[in-house]
Amino acid sequence: MVIDYLNQFDILIIGAGPAGTSTAISFKKLNPDLEVAIVDKSIFPRDKSCGDAIGPGVVHALKRVGIEDILDNQPPVISTSLSGTGEIEIRNYIPKVNNKEDSIVYVIPRKELDYKLLIKAINLGVKDFTGYRFDGMEKSSEGWLVQISNNEDSISINSKLLVGADGANSRVRKSLGVASNYDKDKAIAIRAYVDSPNFVEHFNERSLFFEINLSAEKGYAWAFPSKDELVNIGIGVPLDLFKQNDMDINLLLDIFVKKLESKGIVVRDIRDEKSYVLPLASSSTIISHDQAALVGDSASMVNPMSGEGIFYGMEAGYILAKNTYDKFETKDLLNEGLNLFEREFNNRFRKHFLSCSLARRVLEIPFMTRRLLNIAKYNKATIDFVIELLFDEAHLKIKDAFLLGVKFIMPINLLKIGSKNTSSS
Ligand SMILES: Cc1cc2nc3c(=O)[nH]c(=O)nc-3n(C[C@H](O)[C@H](O)[C@H](O)COP(=O)(O)OP(=O)(O)OC[C@H]3O[C@@H](n4cnc5c(N)ncnc54)[C@H](O)[C@@H]3O)c2cc1C
Repeated sequence: MVIDYLNQFDILIIGAGPAGTSTAISFKKLNPDLEVAIVDKSIFPRDKSCGDAIGPGVVHALKRVGIEDILDNQPPVISTSLSGTGEIEIRNYIPKVNNKEDSIVYVIPRKELDYKLLIKAINLGVKDFTGYRFDGMEKSSEGWLVQISNNEDSISINSKLLVGADGANSRVRKSLGVASNYDKDKAIAIRAYVDSPNFVEHFNERSLFFEINLSAEKGYAWAFPSKDELVNIGIGVPLDLFKQNDMDINLLLDIFVKKLESKGIVVRDIRDEKSYVLPLASSSTIISHDQAALVGDSASMVNPMSGEGIFYGMEAGYILAKNTYDKFETKDLLNEGLNLFEREFNNRFRKHFLSCSLARRVLEIPFMTRRLLNIAKYNKATIDFVIELLFDEAHLKIKDAFLLGVKFIMPINLLKIGSKNTSSS
């Protein structure tokens, strides 16, 4: 039976991943009177292919809207272990990053994290349309008339503001006439869960393990400890190189598992292998439109170096709400707020994304990876900066780029002497 309801909302969000729920929660926290609805084709809790790592930026974002209890009983990860060609391995503690209180990472399966965020949104009064897919949209006198449906129902929703948070293959983005990224601005990654009884013991603590440019040439592999013996493993490569070299992502994962085992790490019950595309922020996307906005993967907000996207998507949702929550009286006022949202997001992250794109290109060259890890071994500031690029919003300033360039050409022995002097002073 097809029923056609007509609903009216101030804000309609398509996609209940972290970008969508962060948008919904932020609007409700800033103005509880706004009528907000969220649509997702999945029924939650649902899995999402991801490394499941969230850093200091996400912790800060949760605290800002008072929902940090989502992190209760989650074991924190306190360090990173980077390795690359030449068998160099560097351990570093998560550095203190700009304006964030916690130098901590959590690895929470997305099935759990996204569900908890959705429940928070619903408890704030957000109308729940999970289990409905977005079918299409057209302009209306109010804003947008959107069609959603499932096997039983077809619903029309009128909304003053439409938010596309529907992920890497966003249909809202397409409907707004925004082309998807070229392959050079996409990556492909596979995730699997394994049990490892000795992972934490192997690293002496809960550490995020990254292996650069080894199991996957020009890509990176990870093994992140979650709760108990659960470890999230995966591997990601730039999509253009993946296609050009006819790579097999499952094979790359097998190679990585063998590498882990050769280190003495026990890997049991490899399961839930799932690959997906990541739209990288190396391509700039128009995110504010006439009474519409894009956030998260639908807006290509994925760090081109680390593949991290949860933080940027959640932050975009908050910045969108902050710039528009009090501008719903007229269409012109709302569009003014949408332009402010785009400007604030770009001012904050443009240089960071550019620095990460550059770093990614540099790290695609095995010699440069080896060299960087060698430098980082003797120079803490360099490794702290790399971790900030991976997890936060640092960017290369001209002075930093110059100093890093000097370190690249400086003999390693000189760096060693420098590091001894620094540690003894
Ligand atoms: C293998 C892999 C590892 C990764 N590791 C990390 C990591 O460790 N840390 C990190 O921060 N990021 C990581 N990322 C990136 C991260 O997963 C994304 O950036 C993040 O999920 C983006 O959130 P989002 O809310 O924009 O989109 P999503 O989480 O993809 O959510 C989009 C939602 O939209 C819904 N949807 C899609 N189409 C429709 C439709 N037509 N109608 C209705 N609903 C629809 C989907 O069901 C989905 O729930 C990884 C990505 C991959 C692929």
